[in-house]
Amino acid sequence: MTIPSVKGKSGHFKTEAGVRLSRIMADEYLRLHWKAKEGAFVVWMAIVVPAEIFSGFENVVYAVPESHAAMSAGKGLGPMQCQKAENLGYSPDLCSYARIDLGTVFDDGRDSPTQGLPKPDLIVSDNNNCSLLVKWFDIYHREWGTPHFILDVPFCYEPQQEEDYGYILAQYKDLIRLIEHLSGQSFDLERVRRAVENTRESLAQWKRFLQTAAHRPSGLTVFDSFVQMAPFLTSRGTKALAEHYRLLADETEERMARGLFPVPNEKYRLLWDNIAPWHQLNRMSSRLVALEANIIAAPYTFCLGSLEGEYEFYAYDGGDPLHYLSRIQNFSICPYGLELRFRVMEKAITELGIDGVLFASNRSCKVYSLMQMDMMRRVTERLGLPAVMIDIDHADSRKYTEGATFLRIEALLELIEGKRIDGG
Ligand code: SF4
Repeated sequence: MTIPSVKGKSGHFKTEAGVRLSRIMADEYLRLHWKAKEGAFVVWMAIVVPAEIFSGFENVVYAVPESHAAMSAGKGLGPMQCQKAENLGYSPDLCSYARIDLGTVFDDGRDSPTQGLPKPDLIVSDNNNCSLLVKWFDIYHREWGTPHFILDVPFCYEPQQEEDYGYILAQYKDLIRLIEHLSGQSFDLERVRRAVENTRESLAQWKRFLQTAAHRPSGLTVFDSFVQMAPFLTSRGTKALAEHYRLLADETEERMARGLFPVPNEKYRLLWDNIAPWHQLNRMSSRLVALEANIIAAPYTFCLGSLEGEYEFYAYDGGDPLHYLSRIQNFSICPYGLELRFRVMEKAITELGIDGVLFASNRSCKVYSLMQMDMMRRVTERLGLPAVMIDIDHADSRKYTEGATFLRIEALLELIEGKRIDGG
């Protein structure tokens, strides 16, 4: 296997996996538009809705507005699309994913990197990340009259309860009946089983990739894992995704075997807590290399493939695929209570040998950020680990200040250094 790098538009070198990722994403959006044009039933879904369910139908495709918003932000389009929504009267305090999406949709997809998304026949949201998302998706229901299915997921202060699991499962069955009714297509559980098997393989490979962070120096930066999450949202349940993640893990391990590391002089191993700062990936990673610091992990990426509060891989056992999907419905961090959040963070800190934690308070995502002060206190007091809080917005770069951020990052590195001198 060769592992060449090519220079991307930003001037940064792209690995083979990076080049393949761009191709996968471009193909996925082209396919989506083409299938919609040919008459496929189009669903818009929130990121943690189990997309494998849609594989149970012959001709149902799905689009993910949050993923499209993240991609727009990564391409520097966040402020422009947010401003369009604000000009329509939407508050600048709303989540920037919502504002980017509303700005794009109500300007007919203009300035979108993917020419927007094909109009939906059904909208599926969930409330286990936040209720803002439900309100945002409901705007389209009111505007176009498109049916809106809301997956109601109980918050989890502790591992999922039996009754919550059954409640979620019952709603999947309602959703399936609704799609059968609206699309006229029949549902085939075996197709979902195959999709879930592909997801199992994808996530096993994803975990293998992330585990390269345990090596000193780390085989990856968190920025690599942020960008490589994208196809999990748009291509969940496909063989192509499993193959991509297998090659990603192979290539990363091969680079390490050749002595190629993203931060070769890695002196500080950090953990990032919150959603990715999509508009700062290249800039932030370059500045960190110069400081010999590497952010090697984030709950945002290692939660994929794990149960709430856990770090280890939770694999599909080949049983009823809807049961498995129901069990992992709470995999993303937002619906965890403080105990579960701390539990998984502590495990990652130990497993990966983390020196300090960067809590990124996110102006957009209140639900993620709300508990961070308490989390920071726990990390410093219970684990004795240095930590700082920085201010970001994951998609609206107008709410981010590089100078202030790096001042605090440098303070964090000094704290780590001080702790080392003290023998801590
Ligand atoms: S506020 Fe947070 S959870 Fe809600 S849509 Fe925005 S990013 Fe997602």
